Amino acid sequence: MKTLIKNGHVIRKTNSEYVVEILDIAIEENTINDIGKIEEKGFDRIIDATNQVVIPGMINMHTHIPMKVLQGIGEGVRLDSWLKDHIWPIEGKMSEEDVYIAAKMAVIELLYSGVTCINEMYFSIESIAKALTEMGMRGMLSYVFFDFNISDETVDEGKKIIEKYRNSELIDISLGVHQLCDMKRENLEYLLKEFKGLTECLHIHVGESRENAEIIKEKSGKTPCEYLLTYDIEPYNVLAAHCVEFNSSDVDLLKEKRIYPINNPISNAKLANGISPVDEFIDKGIKACIGTDGSASNNSLNFLEEIKFGTMMQKVKYDNPMSGQPSVFFDIATINGAIALNKEREIGSIEIGKKADIVTFPIDHTMLPMHNVLSNLIYAGSSLRAANVMINGQMLITDGELGICDIDVVTEEFNKMTEKLMMKVKEG
Ligand SMILES: [Zn+2]
Repeated sequence: MKTLIKNGHVIRKTNSEYVVEILDIAIEENTINDIGKIEEKGFDRIIDATNQVVIPGMINMHTHIPMKVLQGIGEGVRLDSWLKDHIWPIEGKMSEEDVYIAAKMAVIELLYSGVTCINEMYFSIESIAKALTEMGMRGMLSYVFFDFNISDETVDEGKKIIEKYRNSELIDISLGVHQLCDMKRENLEYLLKEFKGLTECLHIHVGESRENAEIIKEKSGKTPCEYLLTYDIEPYNVLAAHCVEFNSSDVDLLKEKRIYPINNPISNAKLANGISPVDEFIDKGIKACIGTDGSASNNSLNFLEEIKFGTMMQKVKYDNPMSGQPSVFFDIATINGAIALNKEREIGSIEIGKKADIVTFPIDHTMLPMHNVLSNLIYAGSSLRAANVMINGQMLITDGELGICDIDVVTEEFNKMTEKLMMKVKEG
């Protein structure tokens, strides 16, 4: 299958600066094989991107997508009570089928906001893999451990699932550890040893809240970052979610390490946890990333909104309008995620030879005038809905229409499931 994306305002980097040019992109099967002015002859499919912005598919680096079903639950409480009193009691009643249905609903929301790859952590990993595979979405999914679920059986199952998806085009499996602060030392050491060499990534919540940091301080006298570095994490790309409780000395410690701090600005603001020092990470050459977290702590999966919020929070944190520049945050939302996932040769930018993960957004009234397309996209783009979404060469959304499933059917399934789940919770 040969596809031509024609005449779009393509955002890509030349000489380390983002430029916007009207270009065509040729795709053969799942790979970009030409960019420029291209003759229309010989293509099986032509996507007219006139008056559209064309960007690399964005990478949402910290998600819990089945939490879509919990959107609006537990408002106005702190992280600890939010989890224990509101979220976990409902999650305890969710079946694998519920996780699958909620994941599909979330994927629709993510696709329309321009996300083509997620770094996901949740239970019932195979239900999420099934939803992503059926819908054509790319993802790194964590097989997640807490102290209570570590056993020979679960470790074996985790290893088997890693093997099962080893040659998948869309799905990779990482080691997930729910939180650095509350896992017993011997358990984390055991997991790091068991999964060494089997998966490239460790996905873990680090320094999300003051309370989290205090737990670590009490048991080790260290900051979350210092404490993380006491473990043998060298064999892993550490995908460290939140990283709010990081001071300037912590930032220095991350230099030249394979630790990727993932900023979750809306979730961190909503739960009053604080602001991650993204500007300092970037100044020190650390590849910071960005994620929405789950729908329950956000309450949305609108990625362009997340990016805008992220830029604004940096300006406020550092009292500096130069902080949180759109071009820096566009890197954070695309290529930095690809680097963190060890996939920078495949995704994260529009380049010949890379996989065709491409999104187009309409240039509507919110994007006018076109003085600065990239700042328009980041600062004014949150109400945009993707016109076209291609992942691995497959069209998931074409001219605004979802082609991979019937949105009305998924919505009906989701509403029925939500109602049943809340009945089960009520019954206790
Ligand atoms: Zn999280």
